[in-house]
Amino acid sequence: MTADAVVVGAGVIGASVALELAKAGRRVVVVDKLGGPGLGSTSASSSVVRFNYSTLDGVATAWESMHHWTDWANQLDGHPEEAPVARLLRTGLVMLDAPVAPKDRVLPMFDQLGIPYEVWDAAELAARVPGIDTGRYWPPKRLDDEAFWAGPTGQLGAFFSPDAGYVDDPQLAALNLADAARRKGVTFLFRHEVSAVRRANGKVAGLEFADGQRIDTGVVVNVAGPWSSAMNRIAGVCEDFTISVRPMRQEVHQVPAPPGFNSEDRLGPVVADLDLGIYVRGAPGDAMLVGGTEPECEPLQWLDDPDDVYPYPTAAVYEAQLTRAARRFPKLTIPGTPRGIAGVYDVASDWTPIYDRTSLDGFYVAMGTSGNQFKNAPLAGRFMAAIVGAVEDGHDHDSEPLRYVGEYTGAAINLAAFSRKRPVNTASTGTVMG
Ligand SMILES: Cc1cc2nc3c(=O)[nH]c(=O)nc-3n(C[C@H](O)[C@H](O)[C@H](O)COP(=O)(O)OP(=O)(O)OC[C@H]3O[C@@H](n4cnc5c(N)ncnc54)[C@H](O)[C@@H]3O)c2cc1C
Repeated sequence: MTADAVVVGAGVIGASVALELAKAGRRVVVVDKLGGPGLGSTSASSSVVRFNYSTLDGVATAWESMHHWTDWANQLDGHPEEAPVARLLRTGLVMLDAPVAPKDRVLPMFDQLGIPYEVWDAAELAARVPGIDTGRYWPPKRLDDEAFWAGPTGQLGAFFSPDAGYVDDPQLAALNLADAARRKGVTFLFRHEVSAVRRANGKVAGLEFADGQRIDTGVVVNVAGPWSSAMNRIAGVCEDFTISVRPMRQEVHQVPAPPGFNSEDRLGPVVADLDLGIYVRGAPGDAMLVGGTEPECEPLQWLDDPDDVYPYPTAAVYEAQLTRAARRFPKLTIPGTPRGIAGVYDVASDWTPIYDRTSLDGFYVAMGTSGNQFKNAPLAGRFMAAIVGAVEDGHDHDSEPLRYVGEYTGAAINLAAFSRKRPVNTASTGTVMG
């Protein structure tokens, strides 16, 4: 088998990359060791769409991507009217004040890009988010620390980002992109595990699969999610990365929402609560999802191999995350049996993704998505198609990084921000917020 380009990974970002490469006229094959699109880390995603990131390019990427989600069916070129389509639910995001992500760092970037927001004091926060405790508890503490149970040391404000929200079904979003890619002629090979990258004359020549089959191609894009570092090791392309990437286990729990959090016609907002070390959002069935934001007091669950992940929620993380959530929403009830999922982030050392070429000609990466790039899948595909197109035409993206201009917002995004060789992003919150 031959292809102009092979994408390794059929998650939401892999499917987006495949679609954009096909739109650029390439004959594309996507390979995935699982049985369908979006079954890797995409399937565990909370799929929050928000714009607060630590760099202007990060903010601009998320803001531009939101417009793609808003116009999703049209983005899919020929999507049959009767077929299901993922939807962005615009619930807004409430970002509680926390020293680790101060609003005076983010809001000037919102101003620069024209992103609407409202600044709320504690009274406004209490009025706008039913049932919330506006107390300040910073820094986050473990449950076995007596200080966890102490009263608040002050009151919190927040900023509200009305255009934020979440996509209702992350796996469906990946399937939508895969179907659009198929309509453009992309071939998907499921249950094919890449085991080797073949080289010839210092360039990519093809891939080999675990069952001994092979495919010839001059372009490979590694979009293997939490398996991306392993794929880079297979390809032998790690030596010039300034950013390291490792898989990390995460749990997201689902509980009945506290009264009034979801209203009859609208699910509750995303509440990013770095003051206590969690985030929450509404979910269908009058539920609430609760995830973590890597508070310093809790051990991080690094994995050597994502396939070794314990796939069920654990009592310890459930208790920690839900007790924090119940502190913020005192009317929350915590069922005795944990319910939720365990997923794996592909964490870059500065929680910022890598969209780039590598030292091996023809081998590209869209990786290090750090639990925060579902929302940017529409642009990640476009970034990679632009990089592959330019580099294959002889452009030196390392010394003259490309700029991408947003179709909807006109924002110019400097792709050097996502380089494998960038200086580590010291503005990062060191958490999933990027
Ligand atoms: C619990 C959780 C919550 C999240 N919440 C959010 C959020 O609220 N907002 C947000 O923006 N982002 C969020 N994210 C991050 C987001 O979901 C990911 O960044 C995104 O889904 C990654 O997509 P992907 O296509 O790169 O990878 P994946 O979906 O992981 O796909 C990678 C694919 O590569 C395949 N693969 C790997 N190795 C091989 C191989 N050797 N051969 C063949 N195939 C291979 C795998 O089978 C897999 O299907 C969250 C992630 C998790 C885990």
